[in-house]
Amino acid sequence: MRPLIVGNWKMNTMRSEATALVAGLMEQRAELDPGCDLLVCPPFVILRPVADIIEGSPIALGAQDCHTDNSGAHTGDVSAGMLADAGCEFVIVGHSERRADHREDDVLVVSKAGAAHASGLQAIICVGETLDQRNAEETLSVVEGHLLSSVPDGATAENTVVAYEPIWAIGTGLTPTIEQISEVHDHIRALLVARFADGNEFRLLYGGSMNPGNAREILAVKNVNGGLVGGASLNVKDFWSICASV
Ligand code: PEP
Repeated sequence: MRPLIVGNWKMNTMRSEATALVAGLMEQRAELDPGCDLLVCPPFVILRPVADIIEGSPIALGAQDCHTDNSGAHTGDVSAGMLADAGCEFVIVGHSERRADHREDDVLVVSKAGAAHASGLQAIICVGETLDQRNAEETLSVVEGHLLSSVPDGATAENTVVAYEPIWAIGTGLTPTIEQISEVHDHIRALLVARFADGNEFRLLYGGSMNPGNAREILAVKNVNGGLVGGASLNVKDFWSICASV
């Protein structure tokens, strides 16, 4: 399957920075197909300017969150339908920063993923353990719980991507060992295969301090089908270097 590299810009980039960043990626992509699909996930208010630039290019657009409902009295929220209308093909749901900052739980996340599917978006569903859970050797059970409860029954390899993101690795410069990444990704694959007819086809991303120095090794792991990249996605050279590592 073709790997997917995702840039999660989080709450970063003013419009001028965002347009320069994506223009830089367009230039690189015009010269070379790195052998993976590319997706950028800017903040909501930057989606349209970025959509205008990447229109017709192989770079896809995604958002970082959506509401469970498609419209209504939800001040400050944005629906999956609105994201599709703005040019998005993907939306990240259940990122650990949303789970922590907005007290999002699996019940909410599975509902957001369902809303994404209903609007024709691919949901990138994030799962992962805290450092305490890793130290208590609970990683596999925590990830299994997230996976069972956050991935809707209607998920298919066409509408869902799973991202394994150890919370302690996000933005810290720390990463699990290759063996640890491999163990979790194999476990996720086995769970998906047991539950879904096309479980073997789902793309499984690794996320957490991926950078040009470690990307090649991580992306070579069996059952790692791409990366979810935060900090390093804000720099054209670094992000492109990760893409080229595929
Ligand atoms: C993320 O935001 O999902 C992420 C993995 O961040 P970072 O690459 O900065 O650790």
